[in-house]
Amino acid sequence: MVGDVPVGGGAPITIQSMTITKTADHEATLQQIYGLAAAGCDIVRCTCNEPEAAEGLARIVPRSPVPIIADIHHQYRRALEALEAGVHGLRLNPGNIRKPEHIKTVAREAKDRGIPIRIGVNGGSLDPAPYDKYGGKVTPEAMVESALQEIAYFEEVDFDLIKISVKASSVPLMIEAYRQLSEATDHPLHLGVTEAGPPPAGILKATAGIATLLAEGIGDTIRYSLTADPVEEAKAGRQLLEAMGLRERKNIDLIACPSCGRAEVDVYTVAQDAMTAFGEREIPLQVAVMGCVVNGPGEARDADLGIAAGNKRGHLFVKGQNVMVVPEDEMVDTLVEWAEFIHEHGADAALEKARATKDAARKAAQEDRDRNLGERGEDANESEAVIAEIRRSEG
Ligand code: SF4
Repeated sequence: MVGDVPVGGGAPITIQSMTITKTADHEATLQQIYGLAAAGCDIVRCTCNEPEAAEGLARIVPRSPVPIIADIHHQYRRALEALEAGVHGLRLNPGNIRKPEHIKTVAREAKDRGIPIRIGVNGGSLDPAPYDKYGGKVTPEAMVESALQEIAYFEEVDFDLIKISVKASSVPLMIEAYRQLSEATDHPLHLGVTEAGPPPAGILKATAGIATLLAEGIGDTIRYSLTADPVEEAKAGRQLLEAMGLRERKNIDLIACPSCGRAEVDVYTVAQDAMTAFGEREIPLQVAVMGCVVNGPGEARDADLGIAAGNKRGHLFVKGQNVMVVPEDEMVDTLVEWAEFIHEHGADAALEKARATKDAARKAAQEDRDRNLGERGEDANESEAVIAEIRRSEG
């Protein structure tokens, strides 16, 4: 348990992030913690790098909506101060706190208080002993060995409230390190790709590593380390877990077609406008934005609700059934309105509500489907014209 949040042992995968404010500035830090909690973050870590930071933690912990972990590098005394401040967990970097007696002192104190510790091995600051042993290279074996050495110190003082991470900025390296670690220990694992960088590349990198491991059943808690507002980290974490079916959906899952020659509307703009309109509304439905009525309702029939464009109007559908026709400029507002209705009353009630308009909606959709097919033909992507152009340029 990290505070009241379970980690490992079959508990839901949790999302973590870290504040970027000075921890001593407790008001600014709390503001960031509240933003993170609202974005779906389960546990927040704050640096405890100076005595003033520990004092900040003493003010932050009682007012935080989520458990707080103190991040400790180099000075084990900061760990003791953070425990005194009432934090719910510690993170120690074995590469930076190397004296066994210091590690054991912290573990003894944490044990007395029932506070868990993460052994946070980091490829960029690996303990020199395993680093040298493996030829002056950061290898999965060296990272796992560093973690196991730290566990051994904890075991000497009979402390086992441990979770472990072996993060690296290289995705293949971290994947292999976690795979080996999961074979070597049953302690809960905290997954992450360090220094993943700014979005969107950073999100891709972190997702590649974290999702691969989660799909293999490895990992209990995750953090996206992005060069961005920490709220983006929490959002990315939540979106990944929701997409993988590992956490219940909290917000809209907006799906949209990639658009093609049949599109009757600028799908990118409508999808973006819909994302903005739904914002942070907590409506856990899947909503589709489709560029045409030819394939749209069919392709998105599993969505709770959707809209497909056709001839300057939008065809609204619920569970694949056409329910209503609206002018093009009302498509997004109508989506939001019906999503709220379905969220409150259910899809069956929505279909019942559409009883009077359903037949006309189906007929209108068929008209637009026929017109679209007639106008654009079966090959709406104009591939024959492209091929002819390629042949022409080949000479
Ligand atoms: S056929 Fe219609 S729904 Fe499918 S990608 Fe093209 S525009 Fe979108």
